[in-house]
Amino acid sequence: MKCVFLLGDPVGHSLSPVMQNAAFRACGFDWQYELLETPHAQLGETVARLRKADCAGANVTVPHKEAVLEFIDDLSEQARKIGAVNTIVNRDGKLLGENTDVYGLVQALREASVELSGIRAVVLGAGGAARAATFALAENGASSITVMNRTEGRARKLASDLRDFYPNLNVDVGAIAAFATADLIVNATSVGMSPNENESPMRWSFPRGVAAIDLVYRPLQTRFLREAERAGARPIGGVSMLVHQGAVAFQLWTRRDAPVELMMNETVQALRKLQ
Ligand code: NAP
Repeated sequence: MKCVFLLGDPVGHSLSPVMQNAAFRACGFDWQYELLETPHAQLGETVARLRKADCAGANVTVPHKEAVLEFIDDLSEQARKIGAVNTIVNRDGKLLGENTDVYGLVQALREASVELSGIRAVVLGAGGAARAATFALAENGASSITVMNRTEGRARKLASDLRDFYPNLNVDVGAIAAFATADLIVNATSVGMSPNENESPMRWSFPRGVAAIDLVYRPLQTRFLREAERAGARPIGGVSMLVHQGAVAFQLWTRRDAPVELMMNETVQALRKLQ
């Protein structure tokens, strides 16, 4: 019997236990995925718990994806570059930090037939998910990325990190004009997440035809997605990314292929029940 935890604050909204526990059962693992609400002050102590032999690792969510870096032993090349970790793997007491959000987002956009090469994107947010999203887009051939964030200094830091790694990428901060020519708008803020379902971070109009992905996946139909649809944009929900990032995390913990379809079905079913 092993355990895997989700570290974050809050964590109650997460469907990762439903998705991962179904995957563990289906693959014959007597493992348990559990929520571990972790206030910032307890992050170091909680991460230390992951080193025990009965723990395969963890996921990390809001707001710890960047702060957790200082408590783990090693980082994958991708996590180091992005500066954010969403998955921790316990390898014989040593903790490895990974970022599977990048893969999750790219898969979700590919499934929605969004062509990434040359794409002009506006990313709302500058936290852990926004870092993964912007680096994923840059890595896959985006031509321009505009970062919009409530705290401008955080957006400027992300933009500067992007420019360091991708000198040919056109990176901007807070430029409202970018919406008019965008091919893709990404909500990588936590605004609109249950229980604050009536909120949206989008204070600007969606141009017709723009692809609009909401990383928030609970509720299934966020206000961001509803407004995108009403404006003639192409709304893409966050569940697909959730499942694909979770599938890679499952593979890292168990060293087995993940039952992706089952994970998708279980997650969507659970979300529908909550509606
Ligand atoms: P985070 O590191 O805590 O960052 C939160 C971001 O949201 C920051 O940019 C923050 O702005 C912004 N924000 C929060 N409250 C706001 C408000 N009231 N008004 C405007 N902006 C606000 O969190 P994260 O890890 O990046 O996660 C962000 C969201 O993405 C969460 O809902 C998470 O569940 C979701 N997510 C989904 C997936 C998926 O697979 N679908 C994967 C990763 C993340 P400031 O910098 O100004 O605080």
